[in-house]
Amino acid sequence: MALIGWIIRIVAILLLVRLVMRFFAGIVRGYSTPASGPSRRSATPATREGGHLVRDPHCGTYVPVGRSLREGSGDSAIYFCSENCRHAWSARKAG
Ligand SMILES: [Zn+2]
Repeated sequence: MALIGWIIRIVAILLLVRLVMRFFAGIVRGYSTPASGPSRRSATPATREGGHLVRDPHCGTYVPVGRSLREGSGDSAIYFCSENCRHAWSARKAG
């Protein structure tokens, strides 16, 4: 049964190739560090104890959902940090 010997050899080669590929991938990753790349952009920042943060479109401040003022509902809901911002935003939208 020489076949088993071949299978073992092929598997060993595949493992070696994978190891080498991972090694080179690590080098490539080391050269191009995505630490502050523009590709890492998320709509909402990390969650906190006050619920997940939403962005005030007027002043750009992030506020916890629980402490924000909501305008609209569902997917089109807009969140504001204060009554001032909500006022200014609706005024700007109207005019
Ligand atoms: Zn605001």
